[in-house]
Amino acid sequence: MQATVEELVLSGDGVCRAQGEVYELLGLDVIYDRETLKIYSTRRAKIKSMSAGIHVHAYYGAMDRLITRGFVGDDGHNMPLEILDLMGNKVVVTFMGREDLNRIAIITSGGDAPGMNSAIKSIVRTGIKWGASVYGVYKGYDGLINNNIRKLGWDTETHGSSQGGTVLLSARSKRFMDREGRKQAALNLIKKRINCLVVLGGDGSLEGALVLKNEFREHFKTLVLEGRFTRDELKKIYARKNRKNRKEGSEEQTATDASRGYSDFYGKPECYKEHPNIYRDLNTTEDASSCDLIESEVFDSFGDDDVDQYLYDLKVVGIPATIDNDLYGTSTSLGENTAIHRVVEAIDHLMSTMKSHSRAFVIEVMGRRCGWIALMSALAGAADYVLLPEAPADWRAEMVGNLRIARKHGKTGVFVIIAEGAVEPDGARIRASEVVKEIDGAGIDVRLLRLGHIQRGGPTSAQDRIYGTLLGVKAVEIMLSPMKEAVMISSFKDGFMEMDLREVIEQNKTVKALQQSLRFDEVLAHRSKLFQQANAYFRRVMTRVNSIEELRHRCKDPREKDCAVCMEMDRQPKRRIGVLQSGKRSSGMNTALNAVVQYALAAGVEAYYIPNGFEGLLGNQVIKASLYEFSGDANNGGSVIGLGTKRQIDPAMIQEKIEKFGLDSLIVIGDSHALLVVEKIRGVNVVFIPASSSNNMPGIDMSIGADTALNAILKLSDVSKLNSFACKNNVFVVEIGGDSCGYLSLMGGIAAGAFEVFIPERKYLIGHLSETAQRLRVRFREKSRRGIVLFRNERTFCSMSTGSFCKALKTDSEDLFDTDFSVLGQLEEGSNPSPVDRINASMLGFKAVDMCLENCGVGVVGFREDAIEFTAIEDVLRDFDRELNRARNPLWLKYSNICRSIE
Ligand code: ADP
Repeated sequence: MQATVEELVLSGDGVCRAQGEVYELLGLDVIYDRETLKIYSTRRAKIKSMSAGIHVHAYYGAMDRLITRGFVGDDGHNMPLEILDLMGNKVVVTFMGREDLNRIAIITSGGDAPGMNSAIKSIVRTGIKWGASVYGVYKGYDGLINNNIRKLGWDTETHGSSQGGTVLLSARSKRFMDREGRKQAALNLIKKRINCLVVLGGDGSLEGALVLKNEFREHFKTLVLEGRFTRDELKKIYARKNRKNRKEGSEEQTATDASRGYSDFYGKPECYKEHPNIYRDLNTTEDASSCDLIESEVFDSFGDDDVDQYLYDLKVVGIPATIDNDLYGTSTSLGENTAIHRVVEAIDHLMSTMKSHSRAFVIEVMGRRCGWIALMSALAGAADYVLLPEAPADWRAEMVGNLRIARKHGKTGVFVIIAEGAVEPDGARIRASEVVKEIDGAGIDVRLLRLGHIQRGGPTSAQDRIYGTLLGVKAVEIMLSPMKEAVMISSFKDGFMEMDLREVIEQNKTVKALQQSLRFDEVLAHRSKLFQQANAYFRRVMTRVNSIEELRHRCKDPREKDCAVCMEMDRQPKRRIGVLQSGKRSSGMNTALNAVVQYALAAGVEAYYIPNGFEGLLGNQVIKASLYEFSGDANNGGSVIGLGTKRQIDPAMIQEKIEKFGLDSLIVIGDSHALLVVEKIRGVNVVFIPASSSNNMPGIDMSIGADTALNAILKLSDVSKLNSFACKNNVFVVEIGGDSCGYLSLMGGIAAGAFEVFIPERKYLIGHLSETAQRLRVRFREKSRRGIVLFRNERTFCSMSTGSFCKALKTDSEDLFDTDFSVLGQLEEGSNPSPVDRINASMLGFKAVDMCLENCGVGVVGFREDAIEFTAIEDVLRDFDRELNRARNPLWLKYSNICRSIE
């Protein structure tokens, strides 16, 4: 037997840490020390000799990591494996074992939801990268029963992330509802030694997964006792289980890995810090000799005790994927955002005909038990009324009243949104045709539009692509960590949380029961914070508009002395709120303006708009707004009142003008430059609504305009990807703006599946460019590749032009690939605001008015952890880097390694 070489030192000009990657992937320890790489044998991999190449003996689990990182192609290879390290040294690898420890199966079940494909891709790639084998189950639970389960490679089923549907196909399965069906499903999983199951679906699918998990051991035991496994299969199951037990708890190994300081640059998932033993699990993959351990054991007869030695538990992770977004405990689920895109697009398209014919529309959207799509589309589209399953009201008079008032104030395109499951207070279903009849009866020309399955299709929105990718990575992280109970990953605006799946299912059942017993307030209390806030605001606008109009109507000559509404209005202090837009344009500014004006007037406050930003105020341009003045502009991505151009504004003069016009509050919709003006205003309430497509603002998760920009970037970069797909071996570099904030580049890159993303928050040396070229060369050397895009923010690499960047890459390509580029420029800011931006803008507009009425002082409204918060300006600016004009340590930076894990 050959001796082991304990240490190998590689040195030379320009040796950098990146060049040790292949050795790290093999399981060797690598230390980079002053232009030398010191490589050490470990328990996982040993250097055997250095004659005619570097000979390494590694576990087979390293193979998938080599494939993942592009050192080896995924279409077969000769043994021993010969690869080149990034310095050109030949590395000859022989493998010790041939099995992986973790086997993950993915199922998409129930209704399909856009975003599922992004999640599938990221589970496949992250799983493989982390040393697991990944299987696709085709056609939902039926596929599990029919053994329609196939192993997935790096490139299989990873296309289509821009499209809706599911590449794994979906179905509803009656047989899975029966115990016998689930037993068959368990048999198929065990035969493939699959120990992790990730289910993408709605409450039914997740409940099915929970039931299977709960029964899994029992089925396993029965199946073993019934002799449903061959001797060979049992041998492998036994080897897997006992091998795992033996290796677990090896603290020594954990400590070594944890202290190795594996560079974050290589895409180590977040969970590594919390669970360093995940990494240990991967590297303890298969020790072939453990199979020999049981060679001599007898399998012919089993007692109950014997059987237990074979059983393992099934790990189950659920990913919420339902366009209805009706799952308890999560504020979003895959597909809902794309569905709202379809509804909002339809509203925008209808608007012209509605206006031309002064016609009303009733639009029926999906949502049998949950009014999420209806409520959010109503907010985004500035609807005149909405009917939901969880908030029944005395709708007839209210709705007709609102439509009449809107008409009277000159709004021609009036419309009502109804969820298909909307109900009366007594629980009876409201049919869309009834709503039409009611409007028609009031003398308004009306038409009905049922959007139906259109809502499931079309291009997947940026949010669903991003969440799909991040949820996939998170699911793998969870499955490869020690876990006992089944979990669902719930998503909030700023991140993800594991929830006990049992609790989710129980709470869903509670909600259904509450709905059946007509306890609607309690149903609402089970919805997300965002849903509750949005519903409260929308209802307030709808009902207040009615009451003000009633007041006006009744106060006409002669005024009724004891009119309750008049007395209520008299009690209200006369407040005057001014609103202006300032800074750079971002889509959604007009939606916020409309929300401020409508909500303020509905609350009995006088609203004034100020054209041309702060300059307009200084030039005495303060104009009284009327109720529906900006309703037709809510979907316009520009600034209808103008932004102004001056950057140097004297805050004392602003204060003077505010006092002159008797405004007790000012609402500013603007970017970071406007924020710095607001900082200096004192003595009045100033509420700032952050609107910046680059999302560089501190203290909030997302500013208005960023989501529109992401959707625009995806549309444009998908074209670049098509170009790259069309030409063999072509690398397309997409230059993204955003000044010194990398949000758009990073999130756009994650959604688009970019090979690499360069953001200004990271420092790059020219060595990083050649390292990227090297990685690309390895990719192209192994296999011709198509559809590779790189995203770079304009300020990276000392603002080198993208043309020069491409030339530098090409120079280093050794003629293995060509480069091309596109600079998105102002196109990336998009036109019509996306639904997310419209929803956020409306909610922030409402909240800003509320804050003014509460005499809040000077501060910022923004989404934080799934709810809208007001934060004092000093606290917000503490997180702002004035020199670089961006937030310090924004939450999204934690995803900066994701592209490397899935490409
Ligand atoms: P969704 O996941 O979109 O809510 P369904 O409610 O139709 O869709 O559920 C999808 C599938 O999940 C069903 O066809 C069935 O196979 C499975 N399923 C649902 N509920 C259960 C259950 N209680 N036990 C076992 N399987 C279930």
